[in-house]
Amino acid sequence: MPEYLVKENALADFFRELTQDRRLLTPQGQGENCRLEETDPSKVSLEYTNTHKSPKECFFPQTEKLLAFSKEADKPHPNEYRDLGDKAVATVIFGLRPCDARGLCVADKVFQNDRFTDPYWKGKYEKTLKIGLACLNPSPQCFCAAMGGSPFGEAGLDVLAYPRDKGLGLKTLTEAGEALIKTTKAEPGDLKSEIADLEKKAIEAQGPIDHFVAINERKIMELYKAPHWPTTAEPCLGCGVCTFFCPTCHCFDIQDEANERGGIRMRNWDTCMSALFTQHGSGHNPRPSKTERIRQRFMHKLKYIPIKQDGVRGCTGCGRCVVMCPANIDIRSVAALMAQTQAS
Ligand code: SF4
Ligand code: SF4
Repeated sequence: MPEYLVKENALADFFRELTQDRRLLTPQGQGENCRLEETDPSKVSLEYTNTHKSPKECFFPQTEKLLAFSKEADKPHPNEYRDLGDKAVATVIFGLRPCDARGLCVADKVFQNDRFTDPYWKGKYEKTLKIGLACLNPSPQCFCAAMGGSPFGEAGLDVLAYPRDKGLGLKTLTEAGEALIKTTKAEPGDLKSEIADLEKKAIEAQGPIDHFVAINERKIMELYKAPHWPTTAEPCLGCGVCTFFCPTCHCFDIQDEANERGGIRMRNWDTCMSALFTQHGSGHNPRPSKTERIRQRFMHKLKYIPIKQDGVRGCTGCGRCVVMCPANIDIRSVAALMAQTQAS
């Protein structure tokens, strides 16, 4: 697929052109306040480490109405469910970091697979074109390369962009991405060797984290019984921040809110770090303490998802949980303990 250039003086027009038949979400704001929002194309931020929240909320909102129902006899369909799904509008997201685009691929396999399709996710996911923004200077908490990705990774994207002379370099990755860029005035260019050099430098800047590679996904039971889980879990507050901000975490709870006239069915993010998450109606809880819950989170990321998804890990190295955990529980250190357990 070819490459293109957008010069500095053409940047605002480029973003306007992307909105022709679509809603455009772009990074707005700097630092910790950077968010993907539908706002002024002339104020797109190219200077950010990553968006505060992961882009999963564009497809799997924190709270989502699944359906509504009415019990009133004079309504056209009394006592019938009315589907509120499939209201997705055509969208372009510009500025997904490659770690987050990979995270969406992991979640997509949960919401769409050979046994099940979630219509709410599918409607939004299939109507969205994704333009990534490569990382020239990964931050200290980033470790995408250790997780099989790259600061210039292409998985899950239609186009990969990178900042270039206050404008953009672009590499189209899918036919839909190529068609989208063709609707703009981006100029053709030959950027292959430049992209290869920049990618090499960005990967070197992250440094190696070999213990992730050392974990053997197939040896489950020895990790399940590893002695470090109680001490790893000790500082955890059970707040769930690590899961809510993670681009691959996808657990939810469904609740009905109703009165005598009808009601709605809601889907809300849930977290395996909460004791209630696995509490049975009988009162029994198969994960009664922090030890079992912490073990579940890391085993899910680093063992169960790789087994289900042909070696692809449930962590893409975005670093959000590293930065945001109030108890300073760091997945890189936990992975080192897991690797040590297997090596001993
Ligand atoms: S963010 Fe940290 S303290 Fe909160 S649930 Fe996750 S591991 Fe525990
Ligand atoms: S586990 Fe942490 S570092 Fe890995 S993808 Fe999730 S939030 Fe990012």
